[in-house]
Amino acid sequence: MRIERADVIITSPGRNFVTLKITTSDGVVGFGDATLNGRELAVASYLEDHVAPLLVGRDAHRIEDTWQYLYRGGYWRRGPVTMAAIAAVDTALWDIKAKVAGLPLYQLLGGESRERCRVYGHASGRDLPELFESIRAHLDLGFEAIRIQTGVPGMDSVYGVASSSVGELGGDERYDYEPARRSARPAEETWDTRAYLRHVPTVFEAVRNEFGPELALLHDAHHRLTPIQAAKLAKSLEPYDLFWLEDVTPAENQEALRLVRQHTTTPLAIGEVFNTVWDYQTLISEQLIDYVRSPVTHAGGITGVRRIMDYAAMYQVKSGMHGPTDVSPVGMSAAVHLGLALHNFGIQEYMLHSERTNAVFGPTLEFADGGLRPSEEPGLGIHFDEQLAAQHPYERAYLPTNRLLDGTVHDW
Ligand SMILES: [Mg+2]
Repeated sequence: MRIERADVIITSPGRNFVTLKITTSDGVVGFGDATLNGRELAVASYLEDHVAPLLVGRDAHRIEDTWQYLYRGGYWRRGPVTMAAIAAVDTALWDIKAKVAGLPLYQLLGGESRERCRVYGHASGRDLPELFESIRAHLDLGFEAIRIQTGVPGMDSVYGVASSSVGELGGDERYDYEPARRSARPAEETWDTRAYLRHVPTVFEAVRNEFGPELALLHDAHHRLTPIQAAKLAKSLEPYDLFWLEDVTPAENQEALRLVRQHTTTPLAIGEVFNTVWDYQTLISEQLIDYVRSPVTHAGGITGVRRIMDYAAMYQVKSGMHGPTDVSPVGMSAAVHLGLALHNFGIQEYMLHSERTNAVFGPTLEFADGGLRPSEEPGLGIHFDEQLAAQHPYERAYLPTNRLLDGTVHDW
């Protein structure tokens, strides 16, 4: 079974997605997600101009060999563009292998380790009443774990906070926070670390008082703190028993997490911008984190993430894969198939895609009892509508940038 074609499809049903479609000589089709939010066209070019010509004629069954061929053979290793491209090829080949086997993908990865993958949703509000309304809306939908982000007094906009409340939006629009905005340049936000550090513990105290001790609560600091600021935040949140505190520092300097860890027992999650096992070597071997955030889409596919998670398993570190709306339904389906099979699965981030997005991708994940389960059909369970996809051409969009109050560029 040879690879006959590798086509890159860019579509924008509400937001931009890059999808790789691989077709074999037997007519079997597999899909992979290659979406890199705000830098979509770079991955599309990497695939179209440099990878697709190498795939044609290769044995579609040789997934590991193809992964190594693209990773080592390109000479320029790692990085988000390279690893998203490799991820798309890898995922599409796993989709094909499972279809040929006549099995849902998770069966080829070892079968199910649990009934479904526990997920967490995003609740946010500009103030406490809005936040509580958002939490209740998520509880009504069946979520049992919820990420909490709120506005900070004195700051106009804050990462993770939706700009409208429940009920203000109609039709296809959703309440969920969507940071990428369609515009010629990125939006600019401002940031005040001291105000944030003062405010966040008061929010978690209020949420625990209102919703009780059982609900799993998460929070994302979005890479904005120094190690000592991160330690202070994590320590101040200990009374509120978080499921995890995410991305407290930029973490390219893995050793920096030692300082955070020395000061707190709040569980830590990191790595949505990391894309290989090398990015976790110190973090995992020294048990400086509890959850790995890399998703299938950005970290070399099923093969790449399974490599990270097998290493993590030796150190009792679990998965917590990134799952915002820019991970397409193809990437989400791959994550849930892998998560169902992984022994050290932890939790899966889950932001619901819009009706427009779902109409193009035809995903078949089932959400019930606070968790996701893939369909039983062979492969990933994606029914991609190419004609509908073609009706949604690419639109330039950027994630925001961020500045301190004095104008200095800060981590967004
Ligand atoms: Mg994050």
